[in-house]
Amino acid sequence: MTSTPPSTSTHSHLEVQGLGKRFGVVDALSDVDLKIQRGEFVCLLGPSGCGKTTLLRIIAGFESADRGRLLLDGSPIGHLPPHQRDFGMVFQSLALFPHMTVAEKISYGMRIRGMDAKHCRDRVEELLHVVSLPTIADRRVSELSGGQRQRVAIARALAIPPKLFLLDEPLSALDAQLRDSMQIELRQLQQKFGVTTVLVTHDQTEAMMLADRLVVMRQGRVLQNDVPTEVYRKPKNAFVAEFIGAANMLLGTVGAAKDIVVMNGTVPMHASGTVGQKVTLALRPEDLSFQARGSARSADMAQHAAFPGEIEFVRNLGPVSEIIVRCGEARLRCIGSDNAFRQASVGQPIDLLVDSQRICVFAESTTSPT
Ligand code: ATP
Repeated sequence: MTSTPPSTSTHSHLEVQGLGKRFGVVDALSDVDLKIQRGEFVCLLGPSGCGKTTLLRIIAGFESADRGRLLLDGSPIGHLPPHQRDFGMVFQSLALFPHMTVAEKISYGMRIRGMDAKHCRDRVEELLHVVSLPTIADRRVSELSGGQRQRVAIARALAIPPKLFLLDEPLSALDAQLRDSMQIELRQLQQKFGVTTVLVTHDQTEAMMLADRLVVMRQGRVLQNDVPTEVYRKPKNAFVAEFIGAANMLLGTVGAAKDIVVMNGTVPMHASGTVGQKVTLALRPEDLSFQARGSARSADMAQHAAFPGEIEFVRNLGPVSEIIVRCGEARLRCIGSDNAFRQASVGQPIDLLVDSQRICVFAESTTSPT
């Protein structure tokens, strides 16, 4: 990318306070509070219908909230129409005026603000480089593929440095390879320009890759708002654990020694619940390891519990292998690249090793989201 970052002085911070929105009998948003810092890249993430788009549309000004406030740099903006908010937007259904050329489309906002033709041309060229479409300035928008149109929409949204950059599933129309490279481009672009960005996605890998902060939503509420590694490592509840990344979800019970009784064994730990309490456990596949049945464990494995099991399935995924292990009634997915994984075979009796420091325990008795 060759572009010169514009001044970041226009970039803003946003505060969402107690936002609520109801459509008929549906509470699309309930008590949503958020603070989005200047220059931050925030992803709104959650299952279909959780309220992500409604929240973005309210921030953009296309929808009004029933209650709550929106503050941009400390000033209320809820009463302003979209065009007075000075936001750059890329929405899934954005009309692109198909009769215009790409250059006309990208420079439209600059031209109606009276910027001179040379400045507009230079800026269009610069932005087309940024979105990896350097040669299409004179093509008509109607001649572009869905992915190219989406990239033109990104360039157009950034033509005049926006106070906020709002994107609703901007990469969902792209094929997997292009989506992957556009994720990297988008992240670099955002970091280079320093523009405060809010992106809606239901793709948790995309969100993990792009975001400084993840806002995980469900049924109109924010469940967790944190940096991606914290959301992944310390999910606030079983729903977040299962939604963000792969996790083996198990039901267990707090044992007499405050350990956790699960599958066909126990995990030594200091559980906070009461003895006999049902709990839900989340174990990431990459946190599980195994060894030949009955092998002595080394000292550095002291914090591991061993569960006798049998390998049911093995799959080589290139750099790592995936296996499925049955322990009692439970089946667990494990991923690794060490010798044990590389040499794993179906039917092999093993001890599955569970690291007690890598388990997430939730005081809930169901693994399925309600
Ligand atoms: P998706 O990932 O499927 O786009 P989402 O998380 O963006 O979903 P929203 O589009 O914000 O969800 O919708 C939240 C809830 O509000 C859903 O139950 C939806 O059916 C409802 N809803 C959204 N817009 C309207 C509308 N204009 N009229 C009635 N109900 C609506």
